[in-house]
This record gives sequence, C-alpha cells and structure tokens, in this order.
Amino acid sequence: MKERSIDSLISRLRIRVKEQNLKNTSQRELIMAAMYKHKGHFTPEEILAFAQKEEGGKNIGIATVYRALNFFEKEGFVVSISFGADGKKYELNIKEHHDHMICTECGKIIEFESDEIEKLQEAEAAKKDFVIKDHAMQIYGICKDCQKTNKGKN
Ligand SMILES: [Zn+2]
Ligand SMILES: [Zn+2]
Repeated sequence: MKERSIDSLISRLRIRVKEQNLKNTSQRELIMAAMYKHKGHFTPEEILAFAQKEEGGKNIGIATVYRALNFFEKEGFVVSISFGADGKKYELNIKEHHDHMICTECGKIIEFESDEIEKLQEAEAAKKDFVIKDHAMQIYGICKDCQKTNKGKN
C-alpha cells in the first residue's frame, strides 16, 4: 500500500529514524515535505531549491540534501533515476509502480506502465527461480520534442 498523505510519510520516516538511532532532524522532514509538494522527478539541486523556499529551509545546504536522499532511497521513500554521468533524479515513492523513459537530450522523463511488461518480467524471473523484490525499468532515448529540434538542425 502506498502512502498518500505527507503526515503518514513523515510518521513513517520518524519511525525509521528512531529505529536506527539517528538524530531526528527537522531538515530531513522539511526536504521530504518539499518533495511531496512538488511531485515529480528532480535533481538534488532542484530539491535543494524547493527546500530552501520552505519555512525554516533557508540554511539547508546541498550536502544535507544528498544525505537525506541517500537515506530516503535506502529506506524506500524515494526512487532514483540515473542519468549516467549527469547524475540522478529522485522521485518520492508514493505513486503506484511505474517505469520511466528518459530523454538523453533534454532530461525529460516520461512515465509508463505496462501490465504486459510486468508479466513478462515475472515470467522471466520465475524461469530462473528468481524472486523479484523490486524492479526499475529505464528506457533511454530521444523524446518527441528533441527529435523535432534535431531535425531542424540538420
Ligand atoms: Zn528531449
Ligand atoms: Zn516516475
């Protein structure tokens, strides 16, 4: 079941923080709340900008954002999408499962869901006696807009 409200997310975050004897920082919660507000796929720099706009977020630095994102990812609060050398974008893990197409020209991310692909993955895993816990499919390519732009250049 996916959490839909920020309150349930924050309370789950507090439980995980407590279980690991970490210091409960308001900055970590603020970063999560900022991500919740903006929903989407963002770079750490973009998340930093969102967090700094929040009340009490002015002094948050990029290192704090990276630390928070690493923790969130480890705990399953966020999923990351890799852009190779360009780094990662992060998305709060609150939607139903979906996969991503990533434009390598402009960085646009297109979400998709395919029952067929999901079923094929299950079937392939079963053949290998592999139990799927999670998966992320990322398809890299060039989006519609960038295809047009490229044509214009030639
Ligand atoms: Zn593009
Ligand atoms: Zn997504």
